[in-house]
Amino acid sequence: MTENSHEHRKEEAVKKADEMFCPSCGEIIKKEAELCMKCGVRVKSPLASLGHELNELGGDKNKLVAGLLGIFLGSFGAHKFYLGKGGTAMWYVCFCWTGIPALIGIIEGISYLSMTEAAFAKKFK
Ligand SMILES: [Zn+2]
Repeated sequence: MTENSHEHRKEEAVKKADEMFCPSCGEIIKKEAELCMKCGVRVKSPLASLGHELNELGGDKNKLVAGLLGIFLGSFGAHKFYLGKGGTAMWYVCFCWTGIPALIGIIEGISYLSMTEAAFAKKFK
C-alpha cells in the first residue's frame, strides 16, 4: 500500500532539464509551453515576459521614442526592435560595424519625428 504512494512521489520529483513546474497548479510542463495543459493558465517564460514588458513599455508605440532610438541607437536597430520589427533589426546589428545602419537609423528617426501622429500610427500600430 505504501509502495504506490512512494512511486507516485518519486514521479513528482523528477523534472527533466527542459521542464518546469506550472506556477499555478504545480504540474510539470515543458519550459517552452505557453499554456499549462492541466490548468490552462498561460505560463510566461522569461523571454516571453521580456517581450511582453517591451511591448508594455512601447504600449501604443510612441513616435518620439522610436525617433530618438533611431537617431541615437539606430546602428543596433533599436528603433526597429521597438517597432516590433526584430527581423529587420537583425540586419542593423549585423552591419552596425559599417556605420550604414547608424546613418539609416538617423534618417528613419528623423522621418518618424517629422511624421504626424496619425501617419505614424497608421504605419506602425
Ligand atoms: Zn497548471
